[in-house]
Amino acid sequence: MGVQISPLPTVAIKLIASGVTFSASMTKSPSFSLSASSRMMTIFPSMRSCTISGTDATVDLCRIANQQPIGIICEILNEDGSMARGDQIFNIAKNYNLKVGTIAELASYLENNPEWVRRLEEPRFVMESFVNFPCQYGDFQLAHFRNFKTQEDLTIICKGEFTQALQDEKTLVRLHSECLTGDVFRSFRCDCGDQLQFALEEIEKRGRGLIFYLRQEGRGIGLSNKLKAYALQDQGHDTVEANLILGLPADARVYDQVQDVLNFFYVKNVDLMTNNPKKIQALKEMGFGVERFPVQSRVRKQNLNYLSTKVKKMGHDIDLTKKD
Ligand SMILES: [Zn+2]
Repeated sequence: MGVQISPLPTVAIKLIASGVTFSASMTKSPSFSLSASSRMMTIFPSMRSCTISGTDATVDLCRIANQQPIGIICEILNEDGSMARGDQIFNIAKNYNLKVGTIAELASYLENNPEWVRRLEEPRFVMESFVNFPCQYGDFQLAHFRNFKTQEDLTIICKGEFTQALQDEKTLVRLHSECLTGDVFRSFRCDCGDQLQFALEEIEKRGRGLIFYLRQEGRGIGLSNKLKAYALQDQGHDTVEANLILGLPADARVYDQVQDVLNFFYVKNVDLMTNNPKKIQALKEMGFGVERFPVQSRVRKQNLNYLSTKVKKMGHDIDLTKKD
């Protein structure tokens, strides 16, 4: 649903989208439309001194409002070409039924809600969205983080309270590597779907925990290569040999992206739901306290070779005697 806005006499528009800046000047333009959601607030130049630029303020406002970090910066001029300020701005806003927020107000909000602060001087993940996520396993929340330097994103399924006061509490955590075939189609070739279900059920039971859904399909080699490796496995190679034959590492995953998010949730001590010693080691190297919370994989005839290889060649701790 679009909202029509009549043109002002002279309007300079700057459009910022994903780091690309497009500028245009309009005089005597026809009316233009904005979607209703984009009109929730309009940022005008600060009337108090402030260190946040208009560009940063626009992106921050969008993020805090759970919108795409894309905005329009519109400088409003008086008839004589001078910048409209103070009461002139409020009069215009009243005429066009716009809400006014100052950059100083945004700065004050960020000061009181530091979890929304972006720190561009170092690569790090910051929260872009936080939404309720009721699902088959209970009522969870989904948090979405982005590294604004690399544009990499990270999805977290979470439940429970996370505050500074609880920072010494142990938190159930799973670093789950995406597996389309296992997670979505519940493949019997691997145990990923079972492990994800186990993690969701355990967090629901305890009432508190985090699942990192890491986009590293096929232990980091991607879906296409994983399926090629499956074809080699069908010819008798194991999961490690198959990757190596393809010229790929047996395990290409890294876990350093989780550090900022664990800090964000005030998590220092982790009960890590895993059978993989590499994940435990990775978190310990980052300075987190880690205890293993074993995941019982379902051993089936279709995944027995796969799980055996994980045990023999990758050091995973799986009880292969517990058949489904
Ligand atoms: Zn899998």
